Amino acid sequence: MTDTTSPPYRSGFIAVVGRPNVGKSTLMNYYLGQKIAIVSDKPQTTRHKQLGIVTREDAQVIFVDTPGLHEPRNELGKYMVETAARALIDADAILFIVDVSVPPGPSDERIAQLITDKPGATPVVLALNKMDKLKPEDVLPFSNAYRLLVPAAQWFLISAKEGYNLDDLLTAIVGALPEGPALFPEDEVTLTHLRDLAAEFIREAALHLLEQEVPHGLAIEITAYQERSGGLTYISADINVEREAHKRIVIGKSGQMLKAIGTSAREEIAKLLEKQVYLELHVKTRKNWRSDAREVQRLGYRAEK
Ligand code: GDP
Ligand code: MG
Repeated sequence: MTDTTSPPYRSGFIAVVGRPNVGKSTLMNYYLGQKIAIVSDKPQTTRHKQLGIVTREDAQVIFVDTPGLHEPRNELGKYMVETAARALIDADAILFIVDVSVPPGPSDERIAQLITDKPGATPVVLALNKMDKLKPEDVLPFSNAYRLLVPAAQWFLISAKEGYNLDDLLTAIVGALPEGPALFPEDEVTLTHLRDLAAEFIREAALHLLEQEVPHGLAIEITAYQERSGGLTYISADINVEREAHKRIVIGKSGQMLKAIGTSAREEIAKLLEKQVYLELHVKTRKNWRSDAREVQRLGYRAEK
């Protein structure tokens, strides 16, 4: 008799879906071991589709982070929902992440509907996240309520923040992927261009430092990205806001806010690039850009073919 052979190599795309703020980016960052997706406590942080690639001995998992699926209220919202829906269609498997510390809401139900309506038998893995916040008496009722939304899914109680049960979840994700060779070089962590990442870091810094209303109207445009001598990277960017009043807020009293955003973003970008970074920021008003389809496109939120 033959000995046991090693398991077949598996690879594929797994769409990461879930309403905003459930911990999708936190989970992906954990698996990628590097800060790729953007984490924030404000919803709708992830606007673009982001790929994160984890290569192991036995598998290559390509995570597709999606913008939150929600009711679109403007052109940007529409773009975000379309991107997420497309990721779902293209995926080999689906990772549905929910916040198990609260019962399911209408958004969770809508996403579950999208998943279960999908033609073909795409495997679904359900991650019941934030179990660290779960009260003992809520464990059963809340997790059962989510499990009922996607009855065919394999499910796991996890904490993306505390790293709980994430190895078991990853093993299940690998098991859900088809057999096949690696699709990307093994040292590739993300396909998102460094330039785009720099823009996302600037947005993240702004999100953390600014008050509620302004952040969702922000769009970052990288106007220059140059490798200069002495290992210095020069980056110039526009922070586009929707109103004059917002521009004043982003700049702050004697430029203090803009300076703080710049310092924080520069440190993050430098960490990522492992290089010295010179960052120049300008604030521009583009009236109500989120409601203008052409402006939304021009700022980089193009639907992919
Ligand atoms: P996304 O919008 O789904 O990508 O969510 P994020 O990854 O940006 O996370 C939203 C917020 O939830 C952040 O403040 C995270 O720190 C927090 N968070 C994520 N996972 C957990 C978890 O397992 N436990 C707790 N307590 N907080 C979490
Ligand atoms: Mg996110």
